[in-house]
Amino acid sequence: MESKKIKGMLSFLLIFSSFSYAQQKPFMDYVLSWDGDSSNLEVELKYAASQKDSTVFIFGDPDFGGQNDIFNVIKNIRVAKPETLRIDKANRQITIYHNSAKKHSVSYEIDGSLSVDKPTRTTQTELFRPVITNGMLTLVNVQFALDVTDESNPLVSFRWRNYPESFTYFNSIRPSEKNPLEKLSAQYDDLSGLIYFVLGDNIEVKEYNVMGVPYYCVTTIEDTYGNDLQGNFQPFFESYFPSIHRFWKDTDFPFYFLAVTVLQNNQKEIGSGGFGIKNGFVMKLGKKFDTRGKYVTAHETSHSWIGTKMMLGADSFDNQWFGEGFNDYITIVNLANSKIYGEEDFLHYLNEETLKPHYESKIKGVHNDSIAAKYWTDYANYGKLPYRRGCIYAFYLDNQIRQASNGKFTLRNMLLDLYGLKMGKKRDELLTVDDFIAAGASYVDKKELQGQVARYMIEGHPIDFKSIQLIDGFEVEINDSVPRVKLTQGADLTKIYQW
Ligand SMILES: [Zn+2]
Repeated sequence: MESKKIKGMLSFLLIFSSFSYAQQKPFMDYVLSWDGDSSNLEVELKYAASQKDSTVFIFGDPDFGGQNDIFNVIKNIRVAKPETLRIDKANRQITIYHNSAKKHSVSYEIDGSLSVDKPTRTTQTELFRPVITNGMLTLVNVQFALDVTDESNPLVSFRWRNYPESFTYFNSIRPSEKNPLEKLSAQYDDLSGLIYFVLGDNIEVKEYNVMGVPYYCVTTIEDTYGNDLQGNFQPFFESYFPSIHRFWKDTDFPFYFLAVTVLQNNQKEIGSGGFGIKNGFVMKLGKKFDTRGKYVTAHETSHSWIGTKMMLGADSFDNQWFGEGFNDYITIVNLANSKIYGEEDFLHYLNEETLKPHYESKIKGVHNDSIAAKYWTDYANYGKLPYRRGCIYAFYLDNQIRQASNGKFTLRNMLLDLYGLKMGKKRDELLTVDDFIAAGASYVDKKELQGQVARYMIEGHPIDFKSIQLIDGFEVEINDSVPRVKLTQGADLTKIYQW
């Protein structure tokens, strides 16, 4: 499959180039340098200008982790004569006037320092800003590269000129490339999914083959919490990722990476944070890796399907009960299937992290439309609501499908059909709640399903566990209106969740 695609693309490029020989193709060519212990990255950018008199670049994105002062990290911006420069700090805009120069370039520095007097107190500080410190560099492209404001879709390339040769290097454009001197290129529009660079003297990159998909595990080797991160993640590569690829019957990925490094500047334990990135997941850890760390890793990597490959509606906020809640259920189901979660961890997540806080929540009954506005300002309530509401319904729907089919089908069959529906659509065509209902209608009564989605997911009424039936393997007890799920005598979680 892969080689066919590449062949197709090459012939396209050749045809294209025969028509465009007269015009210089847009490009942005970055050369990076770092000495290994300072907090400065030196950047030289050569580019073709599609705008005649001047080129306008934007640096940084405050929406990426709420870093409103991100423009402060770019320093010492300079151009060569006759070109001149105007910097608009408030709009993070850099305008270069070409003054009829034929070749264009700009140099600048990225300050990735972490102040010793101000230890990292929230993971955002290191997750969403450049980290360039003694022996360690982690960089996302929005933290060091420039945004072009025209629609030219240039070919963007990166290569390193100076770097400490003994350091371990990882890049998310072509992760098999271990030599920083080699140029990495991709079309600008394809890079929108973020690029990640790691360079350090305390970094290990392990490669795995998961059902034919190359997987990369990038971690710090030693840390102050006594973590053995490569050891912690090994079960994910050996059982969780195979589980989830089998769950979705899908191995159509060029590669996948997990980059987990510890915070460089915190002095006490402060938890962990992460973000998804094209073909990978980045996490920064400020504590010992624990059950919560396993959940976060599993949940985030599970978003490769629900969240990335399929979403209900145009905006991820529209139906987070699906995007976060159903993803959460798929996460714990796969943790059970891969035996990373046993009965105790599985039921703890379902009961203590989901059912209990949901049924005790004062806002459990608010309408789906009221979530987006308060999602970030009241994350503890509104942010968590769609995870819990959706996960509980996914569990209930799974039970209904199993009962209606006498155990022949599960929620997995319905989700596979929904995934098939998505694959049958055009690339930018979205899945809708109606598609969700259409997929479910093969397994449960359509009218009933429509009513449930409207009542429980959109209007927000909590499911009444007193009046519903679960499969033989589960039973439920209700204390102070809080349902609690248990396994019945002799029931085996790995038998319930097998595929
Ligand atoms: Zn999520």
